[in-house]
Amino acid sequence: MSVVFESLPWVLPWLIAANAVVGFWFRRGRAARMGVLLAFTWLLMDVVADQTGLLARVTERGTDAVSMLIPINMLLLTLFPSTGLFRWPSMIFWLLVFSQAGLLLWLNDSGWSALMTLTAGPWTEPFNSPLGPVLPGVLVLMIGALISLARWVWRANPIDCGLALALVFSALATDRYFDSGDPLPLLAAAASSMVLTLIYTAWRMAFTDRLTGLPSRRALDQALRHGGRRFSVAMIDVDHFKKVNDRFGHPVGDQVLRAVASCMRGVKNAVPYRFGGEEFCLLFRGKACGKAADSVEALRHKIGERVVVLRSKDRPARRPANRDKHRRKTVRVSVTVSAGLAERQSGETVAQVFERADKALYRAKKQGRDRLVVD
Ligand code: GH3
Ligand code: MG
Ligand code: MG
Repeated sequence: MSVVFESLPWVLPWLIAANAVVGFWFRRGRAARMGVLLAFTWLLMDVVADQTGLLARVTERGTDAVSMLIPINMLLLTLFPSTGLFRWPSMIFWLLVFSQAGLLLWLNDSGWSALMTLTAGPWTEPFNSPLGPVLPGVLVLMIGALISLARWVWRANPIDCGLALALVFSALATDRYFDSGDPLPLLAAAASSMVLTLIYTAWRMAFTDRLTGLPSRRALDQALRHGGRRFSVAMIDVDHFKKVNDRFGHPVGDQVLRAVASCMRGVKNAVPYRFGGEEFCLLFRGKACGKAADSVEALRHKIGERVVVLRSKDRPARRPANRDKHRRKTVRVSVTVSAGLAERQSGETVAQVFERADKALYRAKKQGRDRLVVD
């Protein structure tokens, strides 16, 4: 274990650099900003701790910055809108951060103490809270963590979860720094949280379909590569979907596809995938194959009965006196699907099973649609 801790001073800058670089690379503004702020934290807590010369001034002021400026900036990071890297909220953020770094380096002593008086810092004195003595900076970071956590629950964006973790670890690092402990393992945990979150978002983008939220074709390829020998596959295609698009427009078509996907999620013992366009696929493994046909039939009925109700934009907020007039403005769209099912026979390749399922689907279309054909 001691080897791990001894190697941390070497690993930490790379972890933080990975956080910032990957954040910029994936155009994740808040992750990139967190990386830069962690870099400043590490510089102040570790690198310039006992420097001489030009950096000696920073050394003296490091405590002020770590106790106050860093927590405030990290809180600002969570409050700023999550727009692109080079939009104005981002630009204002960078301007604020780098002007503080400039002040830290170039203000003379009286100027710096005037700034500290203005901001009521440094905040190195703990105050009594119901949980015991807490440093104000730690409290600010915990508030940032709570905001990120709430956003994660609300919007389900994994970056918010990563930020919440990174802020908690930063709060613990700040606490340990002022307790004369080693904050580096906690900073490493903060940077790792962000890096892992960024990797997760990339993985999710690659393996999940954006429109429906179902696993994508790539996920299906991977599942089949590592899958067992026995499986059944159902190819499912929405009938006359082009007409839905032509009649109601592409956004309504998208909504219908989402509704179909949500029906597919309810099929027991099968994993649904979006194969591409308006084609979906259900993968039944092992014992589930025996009941595959029943499940697909049940799904087909469910989709056929599902009605997507579209309300016109000028729908009144309150119930109008003349309801019939307004009722006409809601549009109801329903679709049917055709399906082809095939179970893997011994000696058959995965491609051959899919080809048979596809041919069965083609037959279902030929026979008049809205039906299942089992090969
Ligand atoms: P069939 O019953 O023979 O399957 O007829 P179809 O009209 O469903 O088949 P076709 O292959 O002619 O048309 C598929 C349409 O699906 C064309 C394409 O514009 C539409 N489509 C594919 N992907 C999407 C999507 O993501 N959103 C929307 N709105 N439409 C899509
Ligand atoms: Mg179709
Ligand atoms: Mg099609």
